[in-house]
Amino acid sequence: MKSEHKEWHKVEKRLEERSGRIIYMDNAATTRTAPEVLEAMRPYFTELYGNPSSIYAFSDRAKEGIEASRRILADMLGAKPEEIYFTGGGTEADNWALTGAAEACAGRGRHIITTKIEHHAVLHTAQYLERRGFEVTYVNVDENGVVKLGELERAIRPDTILISVMFANNEIGTVQPIREIGELARRHGILFHTDAVQAFGHLPIRVDRYHIDMLSASAHKFCGPKGVGFLYMRGGTGVGPLLHGGAQERGQRAGTENVPGIVGMGKAAQRAAATMRWRAERERRLRDRLIQKIMREVPYVRLNGHRDMRLPNNASFCFQFVEGEALLVMLDMKGICASSGSACTSGQADASHVLLACGLPEDIAHGSLRLTLSEENTAEEMDYVAEAVRESVESLRNMSPAYEDFRVQPGGNMVRL
Ligand code: PLP
Repeated sequence: MKSEHKEWHKVEKRLEERSGRIIYMDNAATTRTAPEVLEAMRPYFTELYGNPSSIYAFSDRAKEGIEASRRILADMLGAKPEEIYFTGGGTEADNWALTGAAEACAGRGRHIITTKIEHHAVLHTAQYLERRGFEVTYVNVDENGVVKLGELERAIRPDTILISVMFANNEIGTVQPIREIGELARRHGILFHTDAVQAFGHLPIRVDRYHIDMLSASAHKFCGPKGVGFLYMRGGTGVGPLLHGGAQERGQRAGTENVPGIVGMGKAAQRAAATMRWRAERERRLRDRLIQKIMREVPYVRLNGHRDMRLPNNASFCFQFVEGEALLVMLDMKGICASSGSACTSGQADASHVLLACGLPEDIAHGSLRLTLSEENTAEEMDYVAEAVRESVESLRNMSPAYEDFRVQPGGNMVRL
């Protein structure tokens, strides 16, 4: 037992030393919980731990914490507090929006429209609904990942009940023309859901301005805690409960509330709203520095996503003759946390469905790298990361037979990058 303790202590120490040195560039995966968020949550573990459903006055404080958070989130969206439903994160909110709308509107029709670049929380739910007898149209995107509006409009049928298009893409950062899509949905009397998990807290969103009927968000993407999110549902959508049980969330989502998480999400949202403008400006500046350096110094590279219509903190690339996974390992050895678009299934990395939908050939899509910033990153870090990427790509290419062939016969294997 004692030696186990010792071993663990060693691991902890190594992690501690390492975390002092890491450059965290994977903020689309998750963010660090802000210290003030943690502080706001703490009393709800230790002092104000009452069950919000209890009758005595002690539990009122927990109830108040929840309702304060609900008001903050509603205010940010220009919504009513009673239109916010707390969930266990973005995945749950997406599942609820799609399955709930499908069930609520099944009497009117069974056709749903979404896109090829949605997060799996939406795509896999859509596939589940297909197995339950719904028909789903997956609309294409252009080479920058922007949804083809004409195609979306042509996909609308009399039996279309739901359009679900993400606000901003988690891999390539492209921000969609949400207002136009919302207007289209409204004109045709179709419910409009947007997965705003990557956008909420980073971009200003007003549900009325964009004609949004349902919106998913997740706290850990904007410096809040993990495992808590919410679904905005406009009054009158008719969508029914997700979980059955107690009367929490006005009977729509049963289960004792994650009070500290909900309070933390409210605090994180408040903080995100207050800092949004300067944060976006700063991140955009650093991101552009990083993009410029990489594009200038690394040959055969493509910037994924739209140049301007993109999240302020997202830089996504494809490097020809490079395996994204190998690049991540090399960057990890240099203390950089990044991600690629590939999804690992049965031990083999599949090329990202988002990059394939943008029209990239599979081998190029395999060489993807996503670097996502936070307000904590610095200009020096951007320079270090750009240099680390240049070095790593170069050494991986030097080991690549495909690159060797290409060098012998330049032009043969080149794509427009
Ligand atoms: N939707 C998008 C666009 C995401 O990026 C993510 C998380 O990466 C999710 C949904 C799922 O959110 P959560 O991790 O809170 O379940």
